[in-house]
Amino acid sequence: MRQYLLFDLDRTLWDFDGNAERTYRAMFDSFGLKALCGVCFETFHERYRIINDTLWEAYRNGTISKEMLSLRRFSLTLADFGCDAESAEIVHLSRKMSDYYVVEGTRQTGLMPGARELLDWLAERRDRYCLAVITNGFSEAQLPKMKSSGIDRYFDYFFLSEDIGFMKPDRRFFEAALRRMGVGAERCLVIGDDYKVDIAGAMAVGIPQVWYNPKAIALADAALPPTYEVRHLAEVKDIFETRIVLP
Ligand SMILES: [Mg+2]
Repeated sequence: MRQYLLFDLDRTLWDFDGNAERTYRAMFDSFGLKALCGVCFETFHERYRIINDTLWEAYRNGTISKEMLSLRRFSLTLADFGCDAESAEIVHLSRKMSDYYVVEGTRQTGLMPGARELLDWLAERRDRYCLAVITNGFSEAQLPKMKSSGIDRYFDYFFLSEDIGFMKPDRRFFEAALRRMGVGAERCLVIGDDYKVDIAGAMAVGIPQVWYNPKAIALADAALPPTYEVRHLAEVKDIFETRIVLP
């Protein structure tokens, strides 16, 4: 009987931070943001990241729309450097930056260390493992990203929050994935980098988890430990190999 491995995409397989930084750097230059904001790329980017994370949290909680997130992450960053976020000119520029990010960002091909090797190793064992992607990212970005980096071919299922109608860590996201695959939680394993989103979400529906924690982030005192924790994706193979035999 095959085991179902549910992989998060951003920061678990796809090097979100490295790829995004390359894209933002190119954007910073091509939109002349140094002259407009009067700061270097690093300062701009650091501010952007904080704003983007805050807006993503709001998007996950349903308090802002996807369109609002796409636009405001740029207009609010520009506003922090003296631009008027409400002006037609800045709204227009933010929209162009947003479009640029979707197009150029999804062309990036960087993967997390060991991701390709792990997927190749699993591909040789297709009789034992069935692979799925579980992701909250925008649908128009996630599949192109996987295609550009050549990892789409490894997967049997793609579970995108926009298609499912719920975002991780909402248990309904995981329940929908289990239903579509026609398997119980005990036959699955979720592998993800975000404790709150991937690990706690899987835990709530009884799916065992592998917390990919390359930066060795400490777990909050009240948080339940994940089933497994690894620093490098190469260690995930050992878990698959030594795990108790499934029913
Ligand atoms: Mg992630």
